[in-house]
Amino acid sequence: MANLKLQNLYKMYDQGNGKKDGVYAVNNLNLEIEDGTFLGILGPSGCGKSTTLRMIAGLEEITKGEIAIGDMVINDIHPKERKIGLAFEDYALYPPLSVYNNIAFCLKANKVDKKEIDQRVRKIAKTMKVEELLDAKVEGLSGGQKQRVNIARALVRNPRILLLDEPLSHLDGKMRQILRGEIKRLHKEIKCTTILVTHDQMEALSLADHIAIMKLGVLQQYGTPDEIYNDPVNIFVADFIGEPPMNLLPVTVQKADGGFCFLLLDGTRIKAPAKFHSILEDGQQYTMGIRPTSIVIADEKDYDAQFTVDVFENLGDERIISIRILEDFLTIVIEDMLVFQKGSRIYVKMKEDLLYLFDRETGERVREQGQRNGG
Ligand code: ADP
Ligand code: MG
Repeated sequence: MANLKLQNLYKMYDQGNGKKDGVYAVNNLNLEIEDGTFLGILGPSGCGKSTTLRMIAGLEEITKGEIAIGDMVINDIHPKERKIGLAFEDYALYPPLSVYNNIAFCLKANKVDKKEIDQRVRKIAKTMKVEELLDAKVEGLSGGQKQRVNIARALVRNPRILLLDEPLSHLDGKMRQILRGEIKRLHKEIKCTTILVTHDQMEALSLADHIAIMKLGVLQQYGTPDEIYNDPVNIFVADFIGEPPMNLLPVTVQKADGGFCFLLLDGTRIKAPAKFHSILEDGQQYTMGIRPTSIVIADEKDYDAQFTVDVFENLGDERIISIRILEDFLTIVIEDMLVFQKGSRIYVKMKEDLLYLFDRETGERVREQGQRNGG
């Protein structure tokens, strides 16, 4: 087994008239995926996720760059020879055939010995929990069952790499959650390198051990879910990950007794964390980022900022406080059993480590001194 390497990978589509539109669907992608990894490729619709997957599978011509498994470049290797299992969102199953025959289909086509086919089909059907359905026709199955069969069919060939393109998108909430758990268990069990493409950040965070987040064909950040969540390299990543999303507010730096504060558009002051002091200067403009859960209720004696509550919602296990900053809102999520009324004055502290600054123009993270740009 060996690592999968994408090196300076580009894709530009032909527009059907023999001309290319000049836009890269995948733009200089570099990734090294260690054997056994569960990688999530995450990003909004159209950012190049499926194109990347299809190039790995060999279903899409590579415009420039290389895909290698270990030291072997696989650009010119036929899809069938790549030992890659695929399961896409729209299950390409054969409806009139039984579940058994759908799973066995490619093994039969490859003239695998009948006894071996039977063993492999039954084993994988057990793993995917469709053993009871082996004799059923695919056309009568539910969406969740079809997707299980779909994944079973991808796995029966003992692939080196399993590619899943939005496998849960067609399923309803409950079934999606069940199958998400199944996919996680499956990966633990078979330990096959798995690449899951999704636009759903929760799906990527909960399943993958590494996430590659893309925008307009360009890789933004590659890291563990924890790195992506807690150490975003730019506004795009910060904003894409997390629910409710990170508060992102324009601020102006102002000198204040011995340190600095961030001035919001409505004049509210937020004490600037000491970690930033060495890089701040009076009058600088940034976008400040802080997650709703990184703001905690404090008291009048020791606080970083004070606000007036605009909306208070009690959701049972958590409470959401919304604060109006001119046209914007600042959201705070607290677990404490506190109740506030509209118009209440609140005092808060910001978790220093989790307060970020971004460049207003480029959206890049501005690091405190001594910190390297990760990702
Ligand atoms: P994602 O899977 O992230 O939603 P895709 O990889 O499908 O994105 O698409 C990336 C970009 O390439 C999009 O702008 C899309 O319109 C374009 N694209 C995808 N497939 C084709 C195709 N067959 N011909 C031309 N353009 C395509
Ligand atoms: Mg897609």
